[in-house]
Amino acid sequence: MVRRTGAALASCDVTDTTPATPPDAEPDPRRPLAGRTALVTGAASGIGRAVAQRLAAAGAELLLVDLDADRLAGVAEALGAEALACDLGDADAVAALGLRRRRVDVLVNNAGLQHVAPVEDFDPERFALIHRVMLHAPFLLARDVLPGMYERGWGRLVHLTSAHGHRASAYKAAYVSAKHGLEGLSKVIAVEAAGRGVTSNTVAPGYVRTPLVEGQVADQARRHGIGEDEVLERVMLARTPVKRLVEPAEVAELVAYLCGPHTDSITGASHHLDGGWTAT
Ligand code: NAD
Repeated sequence: MVRRTGAALASCDVTDTTPATPPDAEPDPRRPLAGRTALVTGAASGIGRAVAQRLAAAGAELLLVDLDADRLAGVAEALGAEALACDLGDADAVAALGLRRRRVDVLVNNAGLQHVAPVEDFDPERFALIHRVMLHAPFLLARDVLPGMYERGWGRLVHLTSAHGHRASAYKAAYVSAKHGLEGLSKVIAVEAAGRGVTSNTVAPGYVRTPLVEGQVADQARRHGIGEDEVLERVMLARTPVKRLVEPAEVAELVAYLCGPHTDSITGASHHLDGGWTAT
């Protein structure tokens, strides 16, 4: 089911092929995304919310998607965005967003969830859900928005993967395999979109300071009977040279950069933002 709320409706008709700025004009450096429409999934919380705020500051009109309709409505209202409450685990609900008929210049595939269990105990339903939300939905969304991007000759796809798009950790079979899959999907889109003004990249963070991770830190501190600083340094960031969490605003900054001017040649790449984790 898709529920639409929010004050400002973006002018998103896919038949609108007007470029946001004349091709040879330099965009306003303070608002490089003025005239562009950006869709961000998982925008009700954490990284998605920070990305939505940053893209709004860059001048983009926003379409925000999340399962959590109430929280999404709050974020959308604060940013003057359109809220599309949608379960990305449901392919029919994704189709009902009607994105083939709307203008989307920037797609940020960010929504995600985690489940931890050894493979032999991993609930197959949970495994399939994680793959539907974190790999199948990004494919379906890209499938719907790419024709309009190709027609207008400009588009940006940024997929939030993870250090776990490049490395494995025990008990995270669904998450690690979905993120590795999303890394591959991004590269295929980059190759197909080459020469058409459309780029596809991933941003692969280490642990980011979101409510989810802060909860995990508090949990581990209780379980091991040690302080939260010690949990970060000795447990969660054990493999990370820079011993601090990444901030959501740092992730948002990189996403905004990849959507900004002079980035036509940055495509098919994975941008690590992990304090050096994957360098070790
Ligand atoms: P979060 O839990 O704060 O936000 C995720 C959002 O996705 C939530 O608002 C949730 O409602 C939404 N969502 C979940 N299932 C959905 C569904 N079926 N349909 C629609 N929306 C759904 O998480 P976050 O920490 O901000 O993570 C955002 C992305 O960044 C995820 O893809 C995550 O894997 C990735 N990431 C996070 C970290 C981290 O440390 N937080 C590290 C690396 C990568």
